[in-house]
Amino acid sequence: MIENKIKYLRDELNRYSYNYYVLDNPLISDFEYDKLYDELKELELAHPELITPDSPTQRVGGISTGFEEVKHKYRLYSLDNTYSYDELKKWYERVSKECGQNQELVCELKIDGLAIALTYHNGIFVKGATRGDGIVGEEITQNLKTIKAIPLKLFENADVEVRGEIYMPKSSFEKLNQNVEKPFANPRNAAAGSLRQLDSSITAKRDLSMFTYTAIIEKANLAPKTHWDSIQYIKKLGFKTNPNIRLVKDIEGAIDFCKEWEEKRFNLDYATDGVVIKVNSLACQNELGFTSRAPKWATAFKFPPEEISTKLLDIEIGVGKTGAVTPVAILEPVQLGGSIVSRASLHNFDEIKRLDVRIGDRVLIKKAAEIIPKVIKVVDSDEHESLTKYEIPKKCPECDSLLEERDGEVSFYCSNDKCPSIIKAKLEYWVSKEAMDIDYIGPSVISQLFSLGMVKTPVDFYKIKENDLLKLDLIKEKSASNIYNSIQQSKNRPFSRFLTALSIRHVGKETADILATEFPNIESIQKASIEDLSKIEGIGDKIANSVYEFFKNNENLKMIEEFNQLGFSFENTSLNKTTELEGKIFVLTGTLASMTRDEAADRIKQKGGKTSSSVSKKTSYVVAGENPGSKLDKAQNLGVIILNEEEFLNLIGENK
Ligand code: NAD
Repeated sequence: MIENKIKYLRDELNRYSYNYYVLDNPLISDFEYDKLYDELKELELAHPELITPDSPTQRVGGISTGFEEVKHKYRLYSLDNTYSYDELKKWYERVSKECGQNQELVCELKIDGLAIALTYHNGIFVKGATRGDGIVGEEITQNLKTIKAIPLKLFENADVEVRGEIYMPKSSFEKLNQNVEKPFANPRNAAAGSLRQLDSSITAKRDLSMFTYTAIIEKANLAPKTHWDSIQYIKKLGFKTNPNIRLVKDIEGAIDFCKEWEEKRFNLDYATDGVVIKVNSLACQNELGFTSRAPKWATAFKFPPEEISTKLLDIEIGVGKTGAVTPVAILEPVQLGGSIVSRASLHNFDEIKRLDVRIGDRVLIKKAAEIIPKVIKVVDSDEHESLTKYEIPKKCPECDSLLEERDGEVSFYCSNDKCPSIIKAKLEYWVSKEAMDIDYIGPSVISQLFSLGMVKTPVDFYKIKENDLLKLDLIKEKSASNIYNSIQQSKNRPFSRFLTALSIRHVGKETADILATEFPNIESIQKASIEDLSKIEGIGDKIANSVYEFFKNNENLKMIEEFNQLGFSFENTSLNKTTELEGKIFVLTGTLASMTRDEAADRIKQKGGKTSSSVSKKTSYVVAGENPGSKLDKAQNLGVIILNEEEFLNLIGENK
């Protein structure tokens, strides 16, 4: 019966809201919540007589306990949202009908934090409150005063109430979660939990910030006529606003903005779950007004979900090139971020213990650009306690050797360095983009080459004849020729790529670059002592030891000799290197318009400079492209010189 269905949805949504807003511990993903919410909204639309005042469609958010309640002078609203561009167009049609054609719009990122209202009298911060149900919030002035992005005094003696979103940077959220007993599901919950601490000294220790997006001006030197102008005014008063904002002519412009940020959002150090689109004219905003819970002059486009819940069917163990074993979650297939996901990372056994993940649990998984989905939490359920706790396996699933722990490391390792999984993982790394960049060879080809005994070490790739490849499943003449040519071409990769591809422990691309810059050829690395190696900037004792050991191992030496005989040149070929940037260390962050970060790093090295992945006092310059990460903040804190792209090009003499 419809009545029962409506009651069921209402109760479920209220239960989810309580966990989300009050306990900061969501039980399902936002996407799943929104789907249930839309279902309820549609049923209520068809049966308005069944709407009750406690229906989630009739109210804004929820309030929690512990702080003094405060009635808002001006009501705070939620936002209507949609996942569809067609719905956005329909919304714009309604706006145009009411206020006339060609209404300008302002597009802003929808910051995934929590809304607060700040009151200023004569330019002085006097009161801050959470949104609560929009009518009554909680007074948290003391806690808000600990947040540096909130000015205690404005640049003007204005009487204003501003609204904004408190958020926690993603990097700070990851760090915080390592140190709290019960990890937060996402930065939004972490920000909410941190802000609602009864002891404001705890809030002060959490890295919170705020983007301000609205001002209600009571007394000021200016009365803006558009939303865009009021944002400029908010900035002038001393508030932090989000730089990723755009004034567009119509809904097509807004849709372009949404499409652009669907991808770019992953480069930001704060979470955004969509784009808020607002009518620019304040007169038109007035005309449109509000529904019971949201303005009609704004709407939110929500990005495809990054999170969803599904069932954990099994935990499989993978063995990597270092022998480290990684547990992988096998999931009931589910649609997430445009693809079907059936596997997710569980990092290591400590993580399984921390999350208390058990086979059979419902788990929340999360996907970010280019990152494999990961399990972020177990969804609270009655079944959880009845499931068997996960036990760390004792043996390698591939070769049955004992798994061992190593001092100071969280990972477990397969104790057999001849384990077929380790060998195959090293071969996969050899052909990868980062290493020798051999096209047309993936894990399945490698697995076949290995089981047919054709490739046991990387050197065997170069002994394969084109015809040999026809023995592999699904490989015909054309593919065989592609694979063969791709292998042959890889012989010309630079020395540093070859060093990367060797899978020396602790030597990734960056360290291989350092070695290739410091040593003219492979013989000189072979001859270097541990002391010689550890004297090099960027090479610590751990790396020095493992490089030294690698070149003392007879099997490795034999392999290098074979490469020699095959005509590989282990020479540093960057003969036309110059010295203008000698002694300078660069850190690159954000997206550059004229080149990739790798290309920029190559140019720096070509001119004698060095690059590093982290900012320290030794860093000479941080080059910041668009959407820089937390490295920029660190550079600012340490007083390191920051260059924009143009300044960087000037420095390297390439600005024409
Ligand atoms: P919302 O978060 O979808 O949107 C409204 C809020 O957006 C505003 O109150 C404001 O705080 C914020 N916002 C961020 N950037 C903004 C900007 N630039 N301009 C204006 N506002 C901006 O709505 P809500 O009412 O806070 O929460 C409802 C949503 O919360 C649901 O749609 C759902 O996704 C989620 N939710 C999830 C669960 C769960 O269990 N997972 C439970 C309840 C609610």
